Amino acid sequence: MPELEGKRVFITGSGAGIGKAIATLFTQRGARVVVSDIDADSAKQTAEEMGAVGVANCDVTDEGQVQAAVQQAVEFLGGLDVLVNNAGIEVSSPLLQQSTESFDTIFAVNVRGPFVAMKAAIPHLVAAKGNIVNIASIAGIGGSPLLGSYCATKAALIQLTRVAAVEMRPTGVRVNAVCPGFADTAMVERLVPDFEAATQIPFGDLVAMKQGRLGTPQDIAEVAAFLASDRATWITGSHYVLDGGLTASLV
Ligand code: NAP
Repeated sequence: MPELEGKRVFITGSGAGIGKAIATLFTQRGARVVVSDIDADSAKQTAEEMGAVGVANCDVTDEGQVQAAVQQAVEFLGGLDVLVNNAGIEVSSPLLQQSTESFDTIFAVNVRGPFVAMKAAIPHLVAAKGNIVNIASIAGIGGSPLLGSYCATKAALIQLTRVAAVEMRPTGVRVNAVCPGFADTAMVERLVPDFEAATQIPFGDLVAMKQGRLGTPQDIAEVAAFLASDRATWITGSHYVLDGGLTASLV
């Protein structure tokens, strides 16, 4: 039987990048997926390409939109087994030069977004004994120049994952996080010029030295699929690192 046969899944930020790869792989593994993005065009295109059950868009910074999108997904799917909190943004700036408004914005997307989505989804997940996969980052484990506020948001998301997992354990709902290194998406493309200017090292060389190769969105989707599946029923409160050994190495 396919790994995710019959699972009813809602994925934020799934019009592009890692979210799109998760939506595609989950569908290939038997899940029924509702796609969601702030960009309605990309969500529509992704849903058509991978045969989604439906589209329920939201900007994760707007709690009302998130609640409405989760409700719409539940109506499309007849319930909810898996929430994937994937939507996220980066800000490239030396930490203490970043504007307070921009600091608030990245927290609104990367921390408050998953928080309100978890709250909206939890009654449905409890009913289904489902689970949540939060897309965090190795930036939540170690610091990186230029990514100070991003690192702080991803550390916060790992902590939300742990606490939600422990609090929800009696209900049977599992909550886990995935922590990728640099992966081949538009987000990383946007970061390359600033990283090269700051390090004076070609980004490809940095990646080769630190993590062997750039991750693919599919690498991340594989781990998300495992965590969302019934093969992972004893796994909760965990964060899974996939980074080609970057965080394992002192040099
Ligand atoms: P991406 O290529 O920028 O795609 C992110 C998607 O989320 C886009 O479709 C984006 O729409 C959407 N989005 C942005 N703000 C949103 C909002 N407020 N509400 C709903 N959707 C929103 O990024 P990615 O690289 O796939 O990243 C996906 C997740 O993985 C993020 O949480 C990121 O932090 C995490 N991550 C990425 C990497 C990496 O190396 N790429 C590594 C570790 C963790 P627009 O394009 O219209 O903004």
